[in-house]
Amino acid sequence: MAAYSPSAPLKPMQFQRRSLGPKDVAIQVHYCGVCHSDIHTARGDWGQIQYPQIVGHELAGEVVAVGSSVSRFRVGSRVGVGTMVNSCRHCSECEAGRENYCLNGNTQTYGSKDRDGSITQGGYSTFVVVDEDFVINIPDVIDLAEAGPLLCAGITVYSPLRHWSVSSGKKVAIIGLGGLGHMAVKFAKVMGAEVTVFTTSPEKIDDAKRFGATNVVVNKDGADFSGFKHAFDFALDTVPY
Ligand SMILES: [Zn+2]
Ligand SMILES: [Zn+2]
Repeated sequence: MAAYSPSAPLKPMQFQRRSLGPKDVAIQVHYCGVCHSDIHTARGDWGQIQYPQIVGHELAGEVVAVGSSVSRFRVGSRVGVGTMVNSCRHCSECEAGRENYCLNGNTQTYGSKDRDGSITQGGYSTFVVVDEDFVINIPDVIDLAEAGPLLCAGITVYSPLRHWSVSSGKKVAIIGLGGLGHMAVKFAKVMGAEVTVFTTSPEKIDDAKRFGATNVVVNKDGADFSGFKHAFDFALDTVPY
């Protein structure tokens, strides 16, 4: 399903994925999350794009074929693909395992110039072909439909929580309880933190507590935050305002 213009609904598009290279994995996409970045990209909010464009970078599915040198996957493996599908592999960032910071520009799952010059097409598609280094295994205990959103929304909040060593006994504030915030609450909780959620939506109080928050603060314009001075070891803001 591709975007053909900034405003029209998505429509079907027929196209051919590249044939398998030695390190490529062909994946049948069973589920793909809808990230707000998909909507921004399809609408051209972040600059002009080349239409038609297929978006989607929270893919979960099953391997249907592997290239001759693929070692980490076999036909039938349950796998996921996130926001990027390649990088230069030889700059200092790539060599340090930080391909997302590739100095030559990483290759995004969609709307990005691939190493062969074509524009990448994303996960709202039946199949995808990806180098095995950018494919992850999904454990059997995680439902594929639930795994999809972990590949962008999930990692976006998991990464800072890990980077800043959120752990047992820490007091953590999560600001916003949307697509990202609700996952942040769950991660922080299982990392052992005491979680406080800030939200402008009173109707989200029950959800926040169900996800693991100890405290929920409903804040509206003009709310008094003085009682929270030095209250937290770490605050994660998922609200883009
Ligand atoms: Zn995303
Ligand atoms: Zn690089």
